[in-house]
Amino acid sequence: MKIDKVLIVGGGIGGLTFGLTLRRVGIPFEIFERAPELKEVGAGVGLWANAVRVLDRLGVAGEIRALGQPLKWGEIANWKGRVLSRTDISENLEKRDAACYVVHRAELHAALARQLPGETIKTDHECTGFEADGGRVIVHFKNGATAEGTLVVGADGLNSMIRRQLWDDGRPRYSDQTCFRAVVETDYADTDVLREVQGAGRRFGLCPLGKGRLYWFAALNAAEGRMIPFADRPRFLTGRYAGWAYRIPELIAATAPEKIIQNDLVDRVPLEKWSAGRATLLGDAAHPTTPNFGQGACMAIEDALVLTRALVENDRLSAAFEAYEAARRPRTSAIVNDSWKFGRLARWENPLAVGLRETLVRLTPDSVTAKMLRRQIDYDAGPLPAAVRQ
Ligand SMILES: Cc1cc2nc3c(=O)[nH]c(=O)nc-3n(C[C@H](O)[C@H](O)[C@H](O)COP(=O)(O)OP(=O)(O)OC[C@H]3O[C@@H](n4cnc5c(N)ncnc54)[C@H](O)[C@@H]3O)c2cc1C
Repeated sequence: MKIDKVLIVGGGIGGLTFGLTLRRVGIPFEIFERAPELKEVGAGVGLWANAVRVLDRLGVAGEIRALGQPLKWGEIANWKGRVLSRTDISENLEKRDAACYVVHRAELHAALARQLPGETIKTDHECTGFEADGGRVIVHFKNGATAEGTLVVGADGLNSMIRRQLWDDGRPRYSDQTCFRAVVETDYADTDVLREVQGAGRRFGLCPLGKGRLYWFAALNAAEGRMIPFADRPRFLTGRYAGWAYRIPELIAATAPEKIIQNDLVDRVPLEKWSAGRATLLGDAAHPTTPNFGQGACMAIEDALVLTRALVENDRLSAAFEAYEAARRPRTSAIVNDSWKFGRLARWENPLAVGLRETLVRLTPDSVTAKMLRRQIDYDAGPLPAAVRQ
């Protein structure tokens, strides 16, 4: 199939990785980002083995591994510091691999952007819609510009414009939990442990980033849309996590208030179809998930490779989109749905229910926890196809 240009709407982790995979196989593309400059929020992101495997095939995993911290242990504890489960998450993986690297989002984003020629990325281009005209697609932007190509890919996140135009499935679904997150410099000692500390209707994650930095998140039950002003965030959180183990109140207090980001945790019910005509979706635009398994960005990275391969290996666009969806929808829908269910358990507040949950976590054999994890991280998105001759 002859592809003049792929128009990618959105320059997040998904859009940039897709640009990179297209570059590797020689398909022309352009990325359009609405923000005036390319950047990511100041938090961490867990890159599991399934995503690192893709980055390896793109030749960038070495650089990305060096940004973060390989983690060996996955631990769940209660708020008093009692360890409920401790799993060797990297067991049986290839020798040089870790199950998970936690990296700084802004550094990951910048590392991906460095791989792309500057002229392939247009900032200040907010997409307002697209139209298909015969064998072409024309994308419109708020600044009055238009772009023309063979296909458009919406990598424009949770509130994707492209998804709205294709499927208009309304607002995201709220999980009844909001989440605060930040990176703090600290001498926190357990540098190879990914730890989630649980209490009644709230949890706290401790994810070492390396170089004396820790990425933390605090997810707790809250009414939708209740945003706490930046200046009040440390006080609000130290109140909610007073007395919690692992120096949690101290870590919150040591974080600059303006560095603490808040997002309500949401997802969307999986779609039956992502693509139509000359348009498809990738990453959060296609399958936004609650972040309980830390797989949202990892799945966007997988999508990038699978969609590129489908475009290379199929003669018609419709066949390429079918192959892409057939490979991706079952996996991504399962993760979205399982993560949603997992998040429901985290909301429990009743002391009896919380006690029961702790007992269940304690009694679940490590081998079972490891098996569940391996189902997600053993996934292989497949090879990067050979470069095309256009
Ligand atoms: C609290 C929290 C913790 C998380 N932790 C993890 C984790 O540990 N591991 C993990 O893998 N995932 C994690 N995720 C999920 C991850 O953040 C997302 O899945 C990932 O960022 C999706 O990337 P994306 O490129 O698809 O979308 P986005 O990152 O949302 O990027 C979309 C881009 O499109 C741009 N855009 C939007 N609309 C337009 C438009 N109309 N025109 C042009 N540009 C537009 C945006 O400005 C943005 O740059 C977490 C999410 C949350 C909320």
